[in-house]
Amino acid sequence: MDNQDPENDNEAMDDHLMSSLETPLRPDAFDLSDQEKINIIADHFKEIMHTLGLDLTDDSLKGTPRRVAKMYVKEIFHGLNPENKPDIRRFENKYKYNRMLVERDITLYSSCEHHFVPIIGKAHVAYIPGEHVIGLSKLNRIVQYYARRPQVQERMTMQIANELKQALQTEDVAVLIEADHLCVMSRGVNDVTSSTITAEYSGLFLEDNYRTEFLSHIRRRQV
Ligand SMILES: [Zn+2]
Repeated sequence: MDNQDPENDNEAMDDHLMSSLETPLRPDAFDLSDQEKINIIADHFKEIMHTLGLDLTDDSLKGTPRRVAKMYVKEIFHGLNPENKPDIRRFENKYKYNRMLVERDITLYSSCEHHFVPIIGKAHVAYIPGEHVIGLSKLNRIVQYYARRPQVQERMTMQIANELKQALQTEDVAVLIEADHLCVMSRGVNDVTSSTITAEYSGLFLEDNYRTEFLSHIRRRQV
C-alpha cells in the first residue's frame, strides 16, 4: 500500500515537475494485449462518464467509452509500447554532407501526464551528420513516438534528443520544442497566450555558432 496523500500531488504536479528521464512504467506494463487493455479501459471510462451523470444509453454517448479506449491504446498513447518504436535504419553518409541538417516545424501532438489533456506544438530537430544518416521521415517518426504517451515537455525533449543520438551515432544533435498546453490554456491559470519552449543541445550544438545557426534556421518562416 502506498500511503501518499492524493492531495499532496497537486502543487508539484500542477507545476508540471517531472521525476525521471524514463517514462515511469511498471515492469508488467505490456503483459496485457492491446485488446485486453481496450476492454478494461472502456469499462472504466464508462464508469467515469456514468459517475459524471451522463446517460450512456444515449445514442451519441454509448460508443464513447470504447472509442476513447481504442484511441488511448492505438493512437495517442501508442508510443508507450517499445514494440511501436520506429525502425530506424542507418545509411552510410555517401554524399559526405557534413553541414547541419534541420527538420523544422514537425507537428507534435502529445498529452500532459498530469491532466491527460493535449499538448500541441512544433518540434525542430537538427543534427550534423558523421558516418551515418537516417531517412528524413524518421526524424518525424522519432518525435511522434515519444509524443504519443503521457508526457512532460522537458522529458519528451530529452527523450527525443537521446534517441537521435543513438539512431545517428553522434552527439551533435539539437531539439527544440515549442508547445501549448491545454491544461494551462483552458483551466488552472487560463492563460491562452503563453507557450512553453524547451531545448536540448549536445555535442557541437553546445557551441554558440552552431546553436545560433540552428536557431536562425528555425526562425526563418516561409512566405
Ligand atoms: Zn498539465
